[in-house]
Amino acid sequence: MNTMDNCIFCQILAGKIPSSCVYKDELCTAFLDIGPINTGHVLVIPNEHSSFLSGLDPETGAQIFRVAQRVVQALRSGVVQCDGVNLYLADGEVAGQEVFHVHLHVFPRFVGDGFRLHFGPSRGHQPPKAELDAVADRIRAAI
Ligand code: AMP
Ligand code: ZN
Repeated sequence: MNTMDNCIFCQILAGKIPSSCVYKDELCTAFLDIGPINTGHVLVIPNEHSSFLSGLDPETGAQIFRVAQRVVQALRSGVVQCDGVNLYLADGEVAGQEVFHVHLHVFPRFVGDGFRLHFGPSRGHQPPKAELDAVADRIRAAI
């Protein structure tokens, strides 16, 4: 797992490895993903290293989403092929995280782009309301 010392995104922020930057402020930076799902695929990251959302300052988290909204607006303005946008954040290896510096993917979508999410077998099963309420109770108590 990456630490701050060997983190590729910290190296980008330090200018030690190149990136194609689209936005920067005191809290976060946005640059193009080198392996884009579609042209215009942007990563929005905190300037301060944090492997997971749990370690991220909430104000920085809010700023990442604010910047993502602006990126969405830019992508939808006609600069790239874009009929819609996905936001995606993998928090943890099992969730698909490969770079352990928080990053929010923002990527354009268009008809026929071939991108698909693959759902597991539990998808589509609608739990009874009592079960939903019990789970909601546990999460509400933990927030
Ligand atoms: P994730 O699987 O959510 O951790 O996504 C990591 C993303 O980082 C992938 O989409 C990679 O293509 C991207 N990535 C890895 N190295 C670089 C780099 N040097 N510059 C830009 N994007 C990168
Ligand atoms: Zn880092």
